[in-house]
Amino acid sequence: MKRIGLIQILQESNCFNPVLTVQADYENFGVGTGSEMLAKYGEVGEIGGFMEGLKKWPEAVEPVGVLRLQAWSGGPAAPSTKAWFLEMLTEQLGQAGRLDGLLIALHGAMMGADEPDLDGWLLEEIRGLAGPDLPIVASLDLHAYVTDRMTRCATALVVYLTFPHMDQRETGMRAASVLRRILSGARPVSSLVRLPMITGGELQSTFVPPLATIFQKLEEAEGRNEVLSAAILMTQAYLDVPQLGWSVLIVTDNRSDIGNRLAEELATLCWPIREQLVMKFLEAPACLDRALACAGQPVVIADGADATNSGGGGDSIHMLNEMVGRHIPGGALTIMVDPQAVSHANEAGAGGAFVFAVGGKRDNVFSKPLKISGTVKSLHPKAGYVLTGHGGNNLKIDMGRAAVVQMADVTLLLVEKPGPGSTPLMYRCVGLEPKDFKVVIVKSPAGFRAEFGPFAADIILSDCPGCASTRFSSLPYRRINRPLWPLDQIDDWRAVDWIKNF
Ligand SMILES: [Zn+2]
Repeated sequence: MKRIGLIQILQESNCFNPVLTVQADYENFGVGTGSEMLAKYGEVGEIGGFMEGLKKWPEAVEPVGVLRLQAWSGGPAAPSTKAWFLEMLTEQLGQAGRLDGLLIALHGAMMGADEPDLDGWLLEEIRGLAGPDLPIVASLDLHAYVTDRMTRCATALVVYLTFPHMDQRETGMRAASVLRRILSGARPVSSLVRLPMITGGELQSTFVPPLATIFQKLEEAEGRNEVLSAAILMTQAYLDVPQLGWSVLIVTDNRSDIGNRLAEELATLCWPIREQLVMKFLEAPACLDRALACAGQPVVIADGADATNSGGGGDSIHMLNEMVGRHIPGGALTIMVDPQAVSHANEAGAGGAFVFAVGGKRDNVFSKPLKISGTVKSLHPKAGYVLTGHGGNNLKIDMGRAAVVQMADVTLLLVEKPGPGSTPLMYRCVGLEPKDFKVVIVKSPAGFRAEFGPFAADIILSDCPGCASTRFSSLPYRRINRPLWPLDQIDDWRAVDWIKNF
């Protein structure tokens, strides 16, 4: 019987977030090893897809739990976290015994403080431990930054086909199917074409034009017999790394001629739509003006620059500062990650006065703490829920303790740990219903539309400072290759030196 090892090591990093991601952030999401990993996480995200995909193989397969480590998006991994990954991998792969293949769920945009390509490093280490011949298929988010090391060390890469990301499970199933083809003799060859462009997430939906049309062609490409997987990687922009930009990856069964041609064709379709992906933003006062002029509720204001989904700190003070100074009939609801403020609220007690400088402690580059005065409305020993939809599938979320503070028209939910900023569950888990408010803040550039879209009276994108801002010129890039659109004007992308010489 074939024994297939399953691994998930997943985080999306934002290198402009000064808070490093540490072991405790992974432990917060639950560490899984061996058979316990399958018992606890066998239905979660891509792992659930791996398991379902393996069941479709014509022969009996034994799924072997190896290691599951996941943390919510945030700053780069601390060097000690990277060392811990290797220690856990070495130990758990050693205990897994003989394997016929590995399925690995990665994000693809994970950075270390001392390693810009942490996913490539992981694949290289796993390749070293597993030996040169073991088939390794890794799944990636379509915001991955694919490096040569990743394509070299994995046998094949399989990537999400949707944004908002609704196909984590399906991607796991596709990866299992590609592994089956490899074990049956397919010889994967990767064709990668890079584009010198970065874009914000706001208009990257693959469900509407112009991307829907291109992603339809992408799926047709993956449907071809010679193709094992096909991907357009829109690559999240908060990585200060060489060769940052969109890319197209086609993995064929030893048909690089077809792979190169398809990658080139798809890249050619992506380049001209870049201007259509530039969003018009409103500064904080204008966001509130427009929200208050709207007849219905709730009006959702997205603070994408502080998006916890994009690795932001989740403790920006800019929109809060604007709201506390305004009269907002119907009230406003917002969220902030600030463990010290949660402790302070607990000391004050429910009903107690809350005078404290909140926020600006995690992302202390783009925000400074803001002193507010209010009342502690409620305290919650645990703010948690299970996420299925954009950002997770059966994914357990734990934001730690929570406190709700009321300041005139503004209701502020304080939590200890970051979680998705895109789901109404972040509020509902402590009994706050977004529909009951005139204005609701989300910490997500686009993914929030999946769940807030159906009931939002209006959606407004704010232009506030933050480490996940789409105003790329505000970010301190140093290592990216230039020219890179939109930081630089580019007339002919094929003539760009770092693309030509790639
Ligand atoms: Zn993504």
